[in-house]
Amino acid sequence: MAEASPRERYETGEVERCYSDFMLFRRSNVDPTEELKRVSQEIAVCEKCELHFSRKHAVPGEGLANADIVFIGEGPGFHENEQGRPFVGAAGKFLEELLAKIGMKREQVYITNVVKCRPPGNRDPKPEEVEICTNSYLDRQLQAINPKVIVTLGRYSMSRFLPNAKISNVHGQPLRAKGCLVVPMYHPAAALHQASLKPVIERDFSRLPELIAKASDAPEYSEPSSFNDNKEPPKQLSLF
Ligand code: URA
Repeated sequence: MAEASPRERYETGEVERCYSDFMLFRRSNVDPTEELKRVSQEIAVCEKCELHFSRKHAVPGEGLANADIVFIGEGPGFHENEQGRPFVGAAGKFLEELLAKIGMKREQVYITNVVKCRPPGNRDPKPEEVEICTNSYLDRQLQAINPKVIVTLGRYSMSRFLPNAKISNVHGQPLRAKGCLVVPMYHPAAALHQASLKPVIERDFSRLPELIAKASDAPEYSEPSSFNDNKEPPKQLSLF
C-alpha cells in the first residue's frame, strides 16, 4: 500500500502540526469562522507569556474568515491595546489608504499580528513570545483561513516565513514558503517614520493584484547560505 502523503496524515489527524510545506492546508472538517472564533476566545484569556500582564485588550485579528489575503504585522500598539482591534492607529490608517488604492477595504482581507498582546512601551517582542504566540494562535488562524497570499508587514512576520531574509533585498517579491505565497513588505509604520520608504511600500502594494494573479510563477524561498550572503559585498580597496 502506498505510504500516506503528509497532507493525508495531517487530514486524518495522525500528525497535529508540521512545519513543512503542508503546514497551511486547512483540514476539510474545520469551519474557518468557527475556528477563528475559537482561537480568538483562547487569545482573550491567554496567559502563556508575560505580555498578558500588561495588556488591556488582546488583539486576535479581524476580517474575512475566507480572505484571499492575510496581512501580518508585528504586535498591537497603544491604540490596538485600547480597542482590541489590529491596525487602528496611524499605521492602520496608512494600511487602509494602501488597500483603497488597490480597490480593497479592510473588511475584505484578514489583518492580524505575530503577537496578540501589546509589548509594554512598544518594545520588540521577545523570541519566546513570538514562538509561543505563533505556534498557539497565528498558525491556526492561517490554517483556518487558508489564504492565497500572506503579506508580511515588517521584520518579525517576515522572518516567520523567510528566515534570515533581509527586507531590503526581498520586499515586494512574491516567494513560496511553507506552501504559501508570501509577499514581504515594509511595515506601514516604518514608511511613516522614514519618508523614503513611503513610495517603496506604495509601489509594492500597487503590484499586489498582479502578484496574486501570477502566484504560480513565484520562486521557492531558499535561505541565504551564510550570514555573509545578506551583506553588501566587501568594497575593493583603492590602491591610490
Ligand atoms: N503595528 C502592528 O504591527 N500591528 C498593529 O496592529 C498596529 C501597529
